[in-house]
Formats: sequence, structure tokens, C-alpha cells
Amino acid sequence: MATGKINVSVENIFPLIKKFLYSDHEIFLRELISNATDATLKLKHLTSIGEAKVEYGDPIIEVKVDKKGKKIHITDQGIGMTEEEVKKYINEVAFSGAEEFLEKYKDAGKDAGIIGHFGLGFYSSFMVADKVEIITKSYKDESAVHWVCDGSPEFTIKKAKKEDHGTEIILHIADDEKAFLEDHRIRELLTKYNKFMPIPIKFGTRTETLPKPEGAKEDEPAPTKEVDDIINNPNPAWTKKPTDLKDEDYKSFYRELYPMQFEEPLFHIHLNVDYPFNLTGILYFPKLTNDINIQKDRIQLYQNQVFVTDNVEGIVPEFLTMLRGVIDSPDIPLNVSRSYLQADGAVKKISSYITKKVADKLNSLFKNDREDFEKKWNDIKVVIEYGMLSEEKFFEKAEKFALYPTVDGNYLTFEELEKKVKDVQTDKDDKLILLYASDQEAQHSYIEAAKAKGYEVLLMDSPIVSHLMQKLETTKEKISFARVDADHIDNLIKKEDTTISKLSDEEKDKLKGEIEKVVGEKSAYTIQLQAMDSGAQPFIITEPEFMRRMKEMQQTGGGGMLGMGNMPDMFNLIVNTNHELVGQILNTKTAKKRERLINQSLDLARLSKGLLKGEELTSFINRSYEMIK
Ligand code: ADP
Repeated sequence: MATGKINVSVENIFPLIKKFLYSDHEIFLRELISNATDATLKLKHLTSIGEAKVEYGDPIIEVKVDKKGKKIHITDQGIGMTEEEVKKYINEVAFSGAEEFLEKYKDAGKDAGIIGHFGLGFYSSFMVADKVEIITKSYKDESAVHWVCDGSPEFTIKKAKKEDHGTEIILHIADDEKAFLEDHRIRELLTKYNKFMPIPIKFGTRTETLPKPEGAKEDEPAPTKEVDDIINNPNPAWTKKPTDLKDEDYKSFYRELYPMQFEEPLFHIHLNVDYPFNLTGILYFPKLTNDINIQKDRIQLYQNQVFVTDNVEGIVPEFLTMLRGVIDSPDIPLNVSRSYLQADGAVKKISSYITKKVADKLNSLFKNDREDFEKKWNDIKVVIEYGMLSEEKFFEKAEKFALYPTVDGNYLTFEELEKKVKDVQTDKDDKLILLYASDQEAQHSYIEAAKAKGYEVLLMDSPIVSHLMQKLETTKEKISFARVDADHIDNLIKKEDTTISKLSDEEKDKLKGEIEKVVGEKSAYTIQLQAMDSGAQPFIITEPEFMRRMKEMQQTGGGGMLGMGNMPDMFNLIVNTNHELVGQILNTKTAKKRERLINQSLDLARLSKGLLKGEELTSFINRSYEMIK
């Protein structure tokens, strides 16, 4: 037996490691299983090139909890280490690695942005153990060795008996880390970090039910047998070639990733690059609701099939964080803060690659099966609209497949829409006026009125639509959006106005004066007389598009609109001078009756716009009953 003292400048590195990584003790298991996996994959490589003269076989990694003995065993069947290698890799390399790691990050200790703690490796075991043993035998024909270290820089090393190549790590769990001696805790960690690692990981056994033998009696229980409980799927879908996968394989992988999700994903995108960086993965478009804040099952980031984090902020463009799935890349630096990550060139490239892939996929879905794409539109539009707003590149690509649904259930691209309405919906300055409704029920009478004039009405009801319209208005030349109940629906649209007012100018003045007397008190209204078709409603309330949109944007917070204070309500009251009722108002003899007619008409217009509420609505209803009595 030999003893030695590890040569480190920090006299006792372990308490430091323990303290430093206080919140993250659980990662020791991921680190040790990563080492075991590497050792196994190295052996695979060496046997494949004929360097190692041993049988590779079907190696597994086993994790065992010995609660009584307060130990955790992690055993692999990999290349193992010779005595020389233990001295070199464990005493020197690993220690210096740990020391270097500490040096580098001791100032960054409070930076919550550090993702994972890769690089600490073997020594992370001292975060939970007060003594660690290694029993290892190299694939080379040399004796096994037994290394023991109790957390001080002193260690012992001696020859050991072990027949098969591979390594067993034994952690003597410290008293204050006893929670790791619970089976369920270890199972939880294995599932979190190692669910898709490439070598099978055994944790205990489970009972498997076998088919009943032929001729077995009805009430005879089916035979069972104990089998290894393998925690992981060593060949997850993202590591395979897209050509080897069917739609069903993608769906079942989704269920494997998110066992609590019952809704199927709408479609998937398989990512696969090896130049200028390495990245694989599968992204799924889930069915989304309009509530963009709900997001619990997130994209998971892996590094060579080891789980790192499910916080991909900074790696994936923000609008795509609403997606689900997996990204695996050895090229994403993991020991750095988020602000550094966002400035990293490789990460930027990854982010724009993902954006491009998503746009291409959407485009091909649109081109290959437009009908299906239209069906899915309402479930994916939030992501696309958000992407168009936040990523210029995506906006350009989305031009081809972004859809604008009409109230009649047609889905048009911008180009198609433009073509369709350009002869009817342009104003005096040749500006294209695109009409839309945000609520088909509430704006029903306005939609009908617009349709009666032959206008196309879009249905734009997602929460960020006012921002998107503003973006379109500033990017494209000569277009303007107007909600069906907005003021310029009649002012702006160029068409020969053949409707001549039945009223003379004097009559109009008188009418306006009378209405002003009544409505004037309800100060939000500006009265406008207009000659319209006699079939159009007599009183119509519209709202300036600009004011309403400002208010909406204020609510969704964007474009520097916050903090501008509340905008006042402003409405136009359009009076159709050709309507019979309006003529009647003008010719009414008694002031009282005229006032009643005006009030009742105004309330009907307000009802139609959804402005009549509470006490006013009750008194309107009571008044109406009185009238028909
Ligand atoms: P890293 O894995 O980042 O190199 P570690 O501190 O985890 O750093 O391990 C140091 C070295 O010890 C490894 O590079 C490897 O050579 C050796 N080693 C660790 N665990 C094992 C194992 N289970 N089997 C064989 N070699 C191992």
C-alpha cells in the first residue's frame, strides 16, 4: 500500500467545493455517470479499432444505494484505469481541474446564470461524500487498484482484486447529505439528468409480467420475473437519422419527453448540423393557447445526451421558447453566465440557424399541404406573429407563409390579400385600407355593414396583433389597418359616392344642433352627418383607429407606450341623414319626444358597439319595455 499527498496549492479543496456548489450538490451523480459513460464509449472505440483485446459485449452502468452502509456505488464496465493512470488522472488531472474550476468561478459564485457545472467532474463527489473509494481495473493486463481519499488531500492506493475491467466508485455519503440515500431521490436524479444517455443505466430491478402459459386456468396469476430496471433510453429519437423515423416515432418520443402532456404536438422539426457547429435536436410545435405566459414544459438542452438545463433563454430565440423538444450540442459553452452566452458568436449562429430551420419548415408545411397548415394556423399563429415582431430575418421569411384569416374562414397570404382588395379598399391617396375585426361576435353589426359594401374583413384576434399591424404598416408602403368599427372605414375608402343626402343644408344644421343638445352632455362623441344608403343603420358609433390601438398597445405593453397615462375615450357618432328615423327626429314637433328618440337611437348604437353597460343598460331595457307596452 502507498500513501500520498495530492499536490494542490489550496490546502483543503473539498470544503471549498462543497460550499461553492452549495445549491447544486445533486450534479455529482450526473458527473460520475458521465465519466462512466465516457469510459465505456472509449472502450467501444478501442475494441472497434482492435486496440483493446477484450470483448466489448453489452456493457451497462449500475447505480446502487446501500442505505444501511450509507453508500452509493456507481459501477461501469469501461476501460478502467491502471495504477499509473489513477495517479495521473485522479490525483493530478482531476485535482488540478477542480482547482482551476474554483479559481475561475470563485468570483462568479453568486452568478445564478451559470448553467450546470461541467468540468468539475470526479471531485463533485466530495460535495456529498466524506470518503470516496475507487476500485478499478484497466482493460490492459494489469492488476486492479483501490484508491481511497477521505476529503483531505491525502489518499491511499493499493492493489485490489477485481476480475473484470471497469470502475466502481463508492461514495460514503456525509451525514448532512443523507437525502441521497433514498431510492426515490436517486431515481429522480437519474431520470432528470440521464434519461437519454447512450449507455444503459441499471437502477435495481423491476417485476415483469410474462404471458400465461398455454392451458393456464382463468384465475391463475400470470408468471412474473425480475429484470434489470433500465432508467434510460440510450437511443433517443434526436440521435437518429430523420429518414429512419416515422411520424409515430416523433410522437412517441414527445410522450417520452413530456409524459404529462396528453395533447399531441402539431408538427416537429428535426435539427441536424455538423458545420460550422454541432447541433442535433427535435423541436415540437405544441398546441398553444392565446396565453403566452403559460409555459411549463420547456425545451431541454443536452450536451452529448446529458441533460444540462431546461432554461434555453439566450440559445433559442425568445419567440421559439414557446416550443418544446430537445437541443443537443457540445458547442454551447456551459460554464458561463447568460450575458456572456448571449454575446458568444457560436451561440448567435446556433440561434439564427434554429430560426432559419423553423421558418423553412413552416414554409414547406405551407407549400406541401396548405389546407392542413390553415387548420393549424390558429394554434401556431402566436409563435409566428411573435417571431415576425421580434426577428427581422424571420419576418422576411414569414412573408411567404403568414396567413391572414377572414371572418368568412378564408386564409390569405399578404400578397393574396393585397391583390383581392386593392380595387375596392383604397383611399384617396391610393393607400390600401385593410379592415379587420378583433371579435366576431361583439363587432357583428359592423362586420355585416362592411361586408355589405363588398369589403373583405380579416379576423385578427391574437393578443399581440396591434403590434404586428403597426410593424406591417411601417414596413410596407401605403397600407393601413382599420378595425371595422373604426372611423375611417367610410372616410378613407375611395369609391364614387352616389348617395345624395335627402336633407338640405339648413335641415342638416338644425338636426346637428338638436342632436348636439342631447348628446353633447355625453362628451366623448363627435357628431358627423353622412348620407348613406337608407338601409344602413341611422346612428353608428365609430372609434378612431389610432386612439384605440394606442390604448391596446398600452395594455399589452410595448413600443414605449407604458407610462403614458390613460388615454381618454373618443368616439364618433355617425348619423345617416338618409334614414327614415333621422328624418322623423328632424320633423318631430315636441322637444321632449325628439329628445326621447335621440336618446333611444344613441343607446341602440352604443348597444351595438358594446358600450352600454350596468345601470345605463338596465334603464335602457326598462325604457324599451315601457315603449312597447
Ligand atoms: P473529466 O471527466 O472532465 O476529464 P474528471 O475529474 O471527471 O474530469 O475525471 C478525470 C479523469 O479520470 C478522466 O478524464 C478519466 O481519464 C478518468 N476517469 C474518471 N472516471 C473514470 C471511470 N469511471 N473510468 C475510467 N476513467 C475515469
